[in-house]
Amino acid sequence: MFDSRGDDQQIVDGLHAFIDQEILPIQNRLKSHFEDQRLYYGEDGRESPLVTAARRDARQKAAQAGFYTMFCPEQFGGANLGMRLWYVCWESIFHRYGAPTTQLPYFVLSHFTSGPHEVWEHASEELRAEIMPRLSNGELQGCFGLSEPDAGSDSWMMRTRAVRDGDHWIINGSKQWTSWSPTADFVMVYAVTDPGMFSQKRGGITCFYVPTTTPGYRLESVVKMFGHVGGEEGILSFTDVRVPDTWRVGDVDRGFDLAMLGVRHGRLANAGRTIGLARWAMDKAIDYAKVRRAFGKAIAEHQTIQNYLAENTAKLYAARAMAVDCATKADEGRNVRTEASIVKLFCTRAAFEIIDACMQIHGGMGFANETRLYAAWIQARQCFVTEGTNEIQLRSIAQNLLKGRVDLSFA
Ligand SMILES: Cc1cc2nc3c(=O)[nH]c(=O)nc-3n(C[C@H](O)[C@H](O)[C@H](O)COP(=O)(O)OP(=O)(O)OC[C@H]3O[C@@H](n4cnc5c(N)ncnc54)[C@H](O)[C@@H]3O)c2cc1C
Repeated sequence: MFDSRGDDQQIVDGLHAFIDQEILPIQNRLKSHFEDQRLYYGEDGRESPLVTAARRDARQKAAQAGFYTMFCPEQFGGANLGMRLWYVCWESIFHRYGAPTTQLPYFVLSHFTSGPHEVWEHASEELRAEIMPRLSNGELQGCFGLSEPDAGSDSWMMRTRAVRDGDHWIINGSKQWTSWSPTADFVMVYAVTDPGMFSQKRGGITCFYVPTTTPGYRLESVVKMFGHVGGEEGILSFTDVRVPDTWRVGDVDRGFDLAMLGVRHGRLANAGRTIGLARWAMDKAIDYAKVRRAFGKAIAEHQTIQNYLAENTAKLYAARAMAVDCATKADEGRNVRTEASIVKLFCTRAAFEIIDACMQIHGGMGFANETRLYAAWIQARQCFVTEGTNEIQLRSIAQNLLKGRVDLSFA
């Protein structure tokens, strides 16, 4: 398997050393919380304030060390390091720390949904001056509110509206599935601003910055999933929320393009996250297969187990090659809209299949809390739906293909 090269490898090594020395000690101090969801979440399903504080601490340490913003534009203290390294770093974090210990390492790189990102270049000068220093230093954490109860895959069913009122806007509506909203300082909320354009699917959506202290904003509830006693996703409501025009992000009626700019970065991050977890699961499966014995020999000597391992390795190689090719093309300034969909579809599927086979190799131990394979399995499975479902990726790949817009040349 190929790995990152030259300078990239130095950055990845530095990132790992930083996490080992600065982030894991914070996590270890709260070990019992991270390992027991009855301590991790409170009665209302929100995470414990101790966990929120630890996460902020991790972000701030990563910002001080220069890792948090390294993929952001220079004006936000970043180094614009590019998509190839972005993918490699996400994969390397999840491969090295795996399902049991990525809770805080997950936050050392800023993500478009919650931290500084190039989407903020589209904010007004006033807003950037107000929040960027505290967003870039890791103090503030946001969330990304696009999906709604009746508008998931189909954003054209969005009901949240923003109406101009002089130099302000009044926002009414609701959002659902908003990740990290229970602990967010602000929401990037997407609302219909031109119903005419919107009904013709020509735009008409605008993005606004809404601090969670704004009158009329409410976190209605926390969405709990997979039998957990709490969650990170929330249902939000906006009732006559009044925001100044300077809190608009991007052009009026062009919000959807802005959302997609972030989502494309998110798709590569999710590919890295799931493939990293799949590599972690493979390491465990290889070790286990060598020591677990059945019918007089190590299970690694049974052909079927070897086939699982070999199939997984072929999938890993294909997925990583595809992701790195797509990221490299993006760094060359090429439009990778279709490639990003292909990567998201293929990598999340491959990762889920690989992790699932690794569970099978572990027999009953594959389901035991002790191995934590289930946590990787859940994360990969969720990624079939987040950042656009895999069916929507198929739809957009096919649409672009039929319009002759798919370019399968190598980077
Ligand atoms: C863990 C998690 C975190 C999330 N975080 C965020 C977040 O931070 N911010 C945010 O805005 N949203 C977030 N989402 C929402 C996510 O983007 C939506 O769940 C997703 O877009 C799908 O919408 P839906 O759940 O309403 O499913 P639906 O749109 O109702 O789809 C149901 C099923 O129908 C399929 N389907 C729909 N249309 C088509 C079609 N044209 N062709 C074929 N199949 C189709 C879908 O693929 C799916 O299988 C999150 C979701 C999850 C699960």
